[in-house]
Amino acid sequence: MEFQTLKEDTCFYFHGPVNIGYLRNGEEGMLIDAGIDASTMKKVLKRLMQEELPLTHLFITHAHSDHYGGAHYLQNQRTVHTAAPILEEAILQYPILEPLYLFGGNDPLSELRNKFLEGTPIKIDQTIEEGFCQIGSFSIEAILLPGHSYHQLGLLYQEIFYAGDSYFGEKQLEKHGIPYLTDAQTAMDSLHKLLTVTCRGSVPGHGTFEENFQSTVQANLDYHKQLLDWLEEEIGKKKDGMTHEDVIASMCAHYQVRTPQLSQWLLFRTAVTAYLIALLKQNRVTSEIKDYRWVFKIIN
Ligand SMILES: [Zn+2]
Repeated sequence: MEFQTLKEDTCFYFHGPVNIGYLRNGEEGMLIDAGIDASTMKKVLKRLMQEELPLTHLFITHAHSDHYGGAHYLQNQRTVHTAAPILEEAILQYPILEPLYLFGGNDPLSELRNKFLEGTPIKIDQTIEEGFCQIGSFSIEAILLPGHSYHQLGLLYQEIFYAGDSYFGEKQLEKHGIPYLTDAQTAMDSLHKLLTVTCRGSVPGHGTFEENFQSTVQANLDYHKQLLDWLEEEIGKKKDGMTHEDVIASMCAHYQVRTPQLSQWLLFRTAVTAYLIALLKQNRVTSEIKDYRWVFKIIN
């Protein structure tokens, strides 16, 4: 992980597979997200020690284990005041909620209780809602960016924006094939909102810091639009419509995603359904329960 300065003495980030932000204000220092596990956090703590930088606060943008898996280790090692968005905070304190919702509300099988779907519970000291807020001595604007996670918040501090997973770097988009979303319409609304954020640059959760991040945000919008157009056309090929299960299979096969295990398949089931939700909200498809199946048809 590379430690990069974005604004002298104030804004930094650890650039890795999952980026971790760092803010400094005098004697206080705040991490934004905590990486996937203890070994990532050990590297972060070592580097902050070397640089003689303080660590007093932690903010988690959203409750996905690759963003908070290292937080439990941090809370054991240091006294850190921890803040998180409302609702996400519930999952951070009861992480079984993630495999539980991915499994459609059934008690998750043991194979679903892995570090990719379920981190170790952490303690939350402060919950944050959209708007201006104070976390310790840090005066921050929190911006609500749902669509990838229900109540994800991005943070704007000293004109640097920490965007969580509200958009992905272009390489990450291609790599994912079908990016993980909970509602593609809401995700696109959040991307439009990002285009209105005035700042000196932005760090996504996966990707690199960019001053002109708007072109990457636009690439995300274009990518989602292309998936929606493909999906509408695919459903339109079947005059009797397509079952939910067939839509998942067709889209996963077309975008060549890998789902060797139930846990990956459940993530893609949610992602594909997120695009179906957008088509429903845009009145491009309808759905009904027919012969005990959830069936989608295009609107002619
Ligand atoms: Zn995420």
